[in-house]
Amino acid sequence: MAFERPFNMAVLRELFTNHELLYREDHRPQPSDPNHVRSVAILGGGTAGWLTALALRHQLRWLKVTVIETPAIPIVGVGEASVPSLVAFLHRYLGLNILELDREVRPTWKQGIRFEWGIPGKYVFQAPFDWEVNGVGMLGSMAETKNVSSFTLQSHLMERGTTPILKSKKGLSSFLPVLAFAYHLENERFVNYLRRKAVERGVTHLETKIAEATVTDVDGDDEPHVASLTTEDGETLDFDFYVDCSGFSSFLLEKKLDASYQSYSSSLFTDRAFAFNAPHRGDIKPYTTARTMNAGWCWTIPMHESNHQGYAYASAHLSDEEAVAEVKAIWPEIEHERFVRFRSGRHDRLWIGNVYAVGNSYAFVEPLESTGIMMIQRAITALVRAFPIGPESGVIRRFLNASIGNDWDRLRWFLAAHFKFNKRLDTPFWEACRSDVDVSGIDHALELYEACGPLSLLPRAMRKSVEDQAGFLFYGLHGLDTILLGQKVPHREIKREPKGVWRKRQAIANDFARRGLPYPEAIEVMKNNPEWLQQVIDEPGGWANKMAAFL
Ligand SMILES: Cc1cc2nc3c(=O)[nH]c(=O)nc-3n(C[C@H](O)[C@H](O)[C@H](O)COP(=O)(O)OP(=O)(O)OC[C@H]3O[C@@H](n4cnc5c(N)ncnc54)[C@H](O)[C@@H]3O)c2cc1C
Repeated sequence: MAFERPFNMAVLRELFTNHELLYREDHRPQPSDPNHVRSVAILGGGTAGWLTALALRHQLRWLKVTVIETPAIPIVGVGEASVPSLVAFLHRYLGLNILELDREVRPTWKQGIRFEWGIPGKYVFQAPFDWEVNGVGMLGSMAETKNVSSFTLQSHLMERGTTPILKSKKGLSSFLPVLAFAYHLENERFVNYLRRKAVERGVTHLETKIAEATVTDVDGDDEPHVASLTTEDGETLDFDFYVDCSGFSSFLLEKKLDASYQSYSSSLFTDRAFAFNAPHRGDIKPYTTARTMNAGWCWTIPMHESNHQGYAYASAHLSDEEAVAEVKAIWPEIEHERFVRFRSGRHDRLWIGNVYAVGNSYAFVEPLESTGIMMIQRAITALVRAFPIGPESGVIRRFLNASIGNDWDRLRWFLAAHFKFNKRLDTPFWEACRSDVDVSGIDHALELYEACGPLSLLPRAMRKSVEDQAGFLFYGLHGLDTILLGQKVPHREIKREPKGVWRKRQAIANDFARRGLPYPEAIEVMKNNPEWLQQVIDEPGGWANKMAAFL
C-alpha cells in the first residue's frame, strides 16, 4: 500500500514559513567582512550630523564613527519645533534617557500648531497631533462651531492652552502616555547635548574645516566614490563611507558629486527668515503658533526663557528692512536677531556612490510644518537598515533615492496647500500664492475633497488610493483635511451623525480640557513628578512605544 503522509499542524506549519527568506536573513553579509563599510565619516555637527552619529553608534556598534565640523561654519541654529515621533526616536531608537534630556536640554511641550491663518480677522484654527483619531469629529465641529478646532481631545486642550495633567478633587493625574506631544528644542542646547552623548558613546569628534574631497571611480560601481577628505591644514582623512550633513552648502553631495537640485520654488515662495526672541512673561503655550504675515508667516516657539520666533518671507516680495519693521510693529521688544537664507527643494539623489546625505544638505522645505528633524529621522533609519553596506548595495541605493525623494515631494504638495488657500490677507504675496502656487501633485485629491468631503472619511478602498498620492507618514489625509477645513476650503455637504451625538463627545473633551493644567502650572508640577515623564516611554501601550515600532 502506498505511503500515506500524516498531516497535522506541525507538518503544515513547515509550509507556512518562508524558509528562503530566513536563509537569506541568516546569511546577510557580515559586518566584519572587509568588503563592507567599517568606518564612517559624518561631515557636519548640526542636528543632522549628531543624530546620525548617535544612531550609527547605537544601532550598529561595530562601526567606527567620526564627526567632522568646524566652528568657522556655524550650525543653522534654527529647527526647534518637531513632531511626536522625535520623542520615540530619541528615547527608544537612540536610547537617550528622557529625564536627563529634560534636565539638560529643557525642551517644552508641543501639542500641535495653532494657525492664525485661512480667513480674515481674528480667526484661528488648531492642528493637533491627535488629528488622525478625529475623536470628537471634524464634520460636527465644522457644522456646530464653524471651525475645525473642536474635532479632537487635543484640539480642545490647545484651545484652552492646557495639558493632559488633570486636576480633580482626588488630586492630580497624568494622561501623558495617551496624548502624543513633541518637543520645542532650543537648538544650541540640543546640539550640545547630542554632541556630548555621542562622544561619551565613542564617536570621534574632529574640529577642522574640510577644504577638498578626492573623488574616484571604483571597479564594479558606475557611480563616483569619495576616496578621502583634505582638511584646510592639508591633512588627508580617509573612510569607507561618508555622510554629508554639511547643511545648505551640501559640500559632498552637490559640490563634489554634482547631484542636481530640483527646486520647489513654484510651490513654496518663501526663501528667507528673520529669527528673533521675544518675551512671553511666563505665559508659555503648549503649541507652536503660525501667524500669517504680509509676505509669509511667523512662527512662535515658546521656550522656558522666551518665545523663539521667526518671520519666513519671500525676498521677491519683501526686503529685509521691511521684514524687521513689520515684526517690530507687532513685537517691539525683540532680541537675538538674525537672518537665515534657505531654499526649498531637494537633490535628485541622497545617496551617490559611498556618500549619503542627511538634513539640509539633501533637501529642505520651508519650515511651516516643522518637518526638518522628522525627515532627518526618516533618512537615518533608512541608512541604518541599509547596513551592512557593500558592493551589492547599489540596488538599495536606487530604491532609497526614489522612495525618500518621493516622500519629500509629498511634503511639498502638503505645504503648498497651506499657501494656495490662505485668504487671510490681500497683500501682493498672498494674491500671488492664491493664483500661482503649484499644487499639481495633489490636484486629484483636491478634486475629490471638493466633490466628496474630507478625504480621511472616504470609504477605505478609496482612501488607500488617495493616500498613495497625497498622504505621507505623519501628515496623512487627516492632516490635509485639517488644513483644508481649517482654511474653510468648500466641499459638497455630506451626511453626518445627529448633532446630539457629536455634542455629547464634545462635552467630554471640553470637560477634560477644562480640568487640564495650564502649561506654566504643569511645568511646576512636573518638577515633583518626573515619573510621569518616564511613563511616556515605559508605558507599553503608550503612543511613544507605538511610534517606536514604526522607526
Ligand atoms: C528658517 C528655518 C527654520 C527651521 N525650522 C525648523 C523647525 O521648526 N523644525 C525642524 O524640524 N526643522 C526646522 N528647520 C530645519 C533645520 O534647519 C534642520 O532640521 C536642522 O537644523 C538640520 O540642520 P543640518 O544639521 O542639516 O545643518 P547645519 O545645522 O547647518 O549644520 C551644518 C554643519 O556642517 C558643518 N560644515 C559645513 N561645511 C563644512 C566643512 N567644509 N568642513 C567642516 N564642517 C563643515 C558646519 O560646521 C555645521 O556643523 C528650519 C530651517 C530653517 C532654515
